[in-house]
Amino acid sequence: MAWFKRQAGELDTSGERKVRTEGLWVKCDGCRQIIWKKDLEDNLNVCPKCDKHFRIDARTRLAQLLDDNRFEVDDGDLSSTDPLSFVDLKPYSSRLRQAQTDTGLQDAVINARGHLQGRPVIVSAMEYSFIGGSMGAVVGEAITRAVERAADVRVPLIIVSASGGARMMEGLISLMQLAKISAALARLDEARVPYISVLTDPTTGGVTASFAMLGDLNIAEPGALIGFAGPRVIEQTIRQKLPPGFQRSEFLLEHGMLDAVVHRKELKPYIARALDFMVQAA
Ligand SMILES: [Zn+2]
Repeated sequence: MAWFKRQAGELDTSGERKVRTEGLWVKCDGCRQIIWKKDLEDNLNVCPKCDKHFRIDARTRLAQLLDDNRFEVDDGDLSSTDPLSFVDLKPYSSRLRQAQTDTGLQDAVINARGHLQGRPVIVSAMEYSFIGGSMGAVVGEAITRAVERAADVRVPLIIVSASGGARMMEGLISLMQLAKISAALARLDEARVPYISVLTDPTTGGVTASFAMLGDLNIAEPGALIGFAGPRVIEQTIRQKLPPGFQRSEFLLEHGMLDAVVHRKELKPYIARALDFMVQAA
């Protein structure tokens, strides 16, 4: 059963390869140039030479979006119970502990309340380095709470997605989160509170198939991988070569799947303008 068993190599869920971000210099995947890390950080982690948007963690994201890097965190105490006692190459419980130690978070999302250019907002920012930003019961519950909070206090909601999709170690329970969050978003819609979805690299699987595409406005960062199944799986299934740029933000915009592709530098003013427009319209 060699085709069925994984033969070698452990599943890498650590997110971005660490070698790229260590030390003083970073090599850009986009233009192959060597960039001084400080220059990259000063430029919002966007390559100053070719504009490639590097992945950033949830805390950096919140710091970039919210005024003066000041915000209150909610629901930070939720953590997974490993409902299936799942074991692949190592137990899910030890994977969780490792991710918690590495990121200082309980799971792959941070719920924050703060201000965006003076406007009150509720933000859920996903953390890709926590088991690939995968959505299990905790991410699902945390995002649902953010949605419900937004509806209760009538404050606009922003969800910044960065996720490989549902968390396979929680099986069906992770799939239930798609329906749960979508239902909460439907109630937010009825309450006429705006929801802006920001899709970043990568947004795939069950996250794309639920809340990431349900915004009143769906916007993405340039060059982000966005899709349901990965390009390799699709190619193998349909036995056709995919067009260049397939499943990247720009391709999706061209095909009507997104409302806009927004440069990271423009993201904050863009959201502020959109909120003004939506709140006035309401
Ligand atoms: Zn570059």
